[in-house]
Order: sequence, then structure tokens, then C-alpha cells
Amino acid sequence: QQQIKLVKRPVGIPTEKDFEFAQVPIGEPVKGEVLVRTVYISVDPYLRGRMNDVKSYVPPFELNTVISSGVIGQVVESKSTRFEKNDIVTGMLGWQQYSVAGESEIRKVDATIAPASAYLSVLGLTGLTAYFGLLEIGQPKEGETVVVSGAAGAVGSMVGQLAKIKGTRVVGIAGSDEKVNYLINKLGFDAAINYKTENVKEALKKACPNGIDVYYENVGGEIGDAVLPLLNKFARIPVCGAISTYNNKEADIGLRVQSYLIKTSSLMKGFTVGDYSSRFQEGAEALAGWLQEGKLQYEETVTDGFEHTIDAFLDLFKGANIGKAVVKVAEI
Ligand code: NDP
Repeated sequence: QQQIKLVKRPVGIPTEKDFEFAQVPIGEPVKGEVLVRTVYISVDPYLRGRMNDVKSYVPPFELNTVISSGVIGQVVESKSTRFEKNDIVTGMLGWQQYSVAGESEIRKVDATIAPASAYLSVLGLTGLTAYFGLLEIGQPKEGETVVVSGAAGAVGSMVGQLAKIKGTRVVGIAGSDEKVNYLINKLGFDAAINYKTENVKEALKKACPNGIDVYYENVGGEIGDAVLPLLNKFARIPVCGAISTYNNKEADIGLRVQSYLIKTSSLMKGFTVGDYSSRFQEGAEALAGWLQEGKLQYEETVTDGFEHTIDAFLDLFKGANIGKAVVKVAEI
């Protein structure tokens, strides 16, 4: 089988040379383990951070070792009493065609509620990131204005819809007219801004006549800066991500935030979805409920073929995806 290793720490935007495809034997499960055939691989912006040799909330990838991320797979051989052949499972597994997984590394998914890949998006960590970041930190209240950046991406598209469910005015910021159109006409956002063609500050002023109460930050940089002058008193800013800075070779220097936070008594709080792990069940049930009621829609950008996994990852930084970016490795 094939697997993908990180062989060099990327400097700036990663290139294909930072990765290597290797031919390795398929592992054999022992008691308490299963052999999983990879069906979908999740490609995510945060993996870029793990490619640097710096301390963070997840340890860096080791060089010459298989990369890992969220995977949906099918059990092909079980030496565990908890899993049976053909079970559909998810876990943090390697970028390879087959993985040997211990019982505690994977959990079964219910593919009758939604297609299995949805457990990488709306019903997985993506949905939970939107749910806890928006509802716990953002605390949106009916009639307020919520702005979300990276709005047409996996997390952002969920945030906007959850904010609509909470009765707010929702404004998205994204990188193409196609995405703007998708946000307004498919997901019901009240307004959306193309940051590549519009003056974000001016466009935000128009789109947010009553100011901004919640800014869900996915991208950082200049877009984050444009939002701050429009904050209302007691605004909340869940800081989820800063993708515009992940490939920077030098520190990102922007607007100094303190005075904006002070004069509006606003809260800016970073978080990782793992902070809420003890409440994942609650979040997953709420998301599944809204999905089944037709209140949440989700889109996937599916790249076909294991050999295109690296391209799919690099495409995140080019804005190629609408909704969750996944790689389809095999059929179920
Ligand atoms: P997305 O599906 O949003 O994919 C990335 C998107 O980011 C692209 O489609 C692109 O859309 C946008 N983008 C890329 N480069 C830039 C740039 N230079 N400036 C502005 N936008 C850019 O990924 P996710 O939904 O998985 O992740 C969104 C954010 O949330 C990321 O920052 C990620 O790190 C973070 N995150 C944080 C978690 C946490 O626990 N805190 C968990 C999961 C994600 P466009 O066309 O609009 O440019």
C-alpha cells in the first residue's frame, strides 16, 4: 500500500517536494485492533501548523513519518470485540490506504443519518468547531449582527447557518463571487463580501448598518483588522483560525487590537475544539438534529484518488474548496 510522509519542513507555502509517497506493507492487527481501509481523508488548514517544528496544541509531525488527520474508513478485519468487519469508523489515522487501529483510536459512525463523509464535516470536528466557538464564545442573540470570515469553507459555512438559526443578521467574507453567491442564495446569509475584489472595510460598513456584535475569526490578517473598527459595545470574537498567516515566513504585523477591545468592552477569545471534548456528544446531537430538520446544509469539495491528497491539501490555501475539503480514497 501507499502512504504519504512529510520529508521536509515547509518554508512558506508547502510544495510537493516536502512530501513523499512510500510503498509500505499493510499492517496486521493483533488482539484489540482492527484493520481499516481508508475511504475518506480530511484535509485541514491546521495540518500546516503541524508541519512546523514548533510547540502548539498538537505536537508537530515527525519527519519521515506518515501524516495523519481525520479519516473515515471501513473495517476489513477485526481482532476486537467492539468492531465487526464492514463497520464504518472514524478516527485520526494515517494518510495511507490501510491502517491498523486500536479500539480507542476509532469510533463507529451511523451512516444512516448522513453519508459517512459528513462525519468529517457537519457531524464531525468541523461542525463541533462552529458549534462551540459560535454558541459558547460568540453567544449570538436574536437581532444581532454576526460576521464570519472563511465563510464558504467547512467551519465558516456552518457558523453562518448556526447564526441564522439563532436569528441574527449574518454577513460572510469569502474569496470569490461564486462563494458570495453560494452564501447568499444557498445558505441564506444576509450579505456576503468578496475580499479579493471589494474594499472589505467599506463593504462591511454597508453590510452591517447596526455594527458587529460577533466576529467569528477564521482567517486573521487584514480581514480581521477590517472588522475591529465596526465592533459594537460588548462584542464577542471567537478566534478559531488565522489561515491567511499560516504560510507566513515572518510574524504577521497588523492593527493593534487593544484599543478597539477596550473602547467596546469586547471579548476576544482563542479556542480549540478540543477544549469542549467533554461536551462533544451534546454538540453532535444538536448538529444531527438540525441536519435532519433540514436547517443545516453542507457542501463537500471531493478530490478523487489517494494520489491527489497533497493537491487537495494545498488547494485549501488557494481557496479551491466550498464547504469541507475531503479526499475520496475508496468506495464503501
Ligand atoms: P476551510 O474549508 O475554510 O478552507 C480554507 C479556506 O480558507 C479556503 O477555502 C479559502 O477560502 C480560505 N483562505 C485560504 N487562504 C486565505 C487567505 N490568505 N486569506 C483569507 N482566506 C483564505 O477550512 P476549515 O473550515 O477547516 O478551517 C477554517 C479555519 O478554522 C482555519 O483557520 C482553521 O485553521 C481553523 N480551525 C480551527 C479549529 C479550532 O479548533 N480552533 C478547528 C478547525 C479549523 P477563500 O476562497 O474565502 O479565500
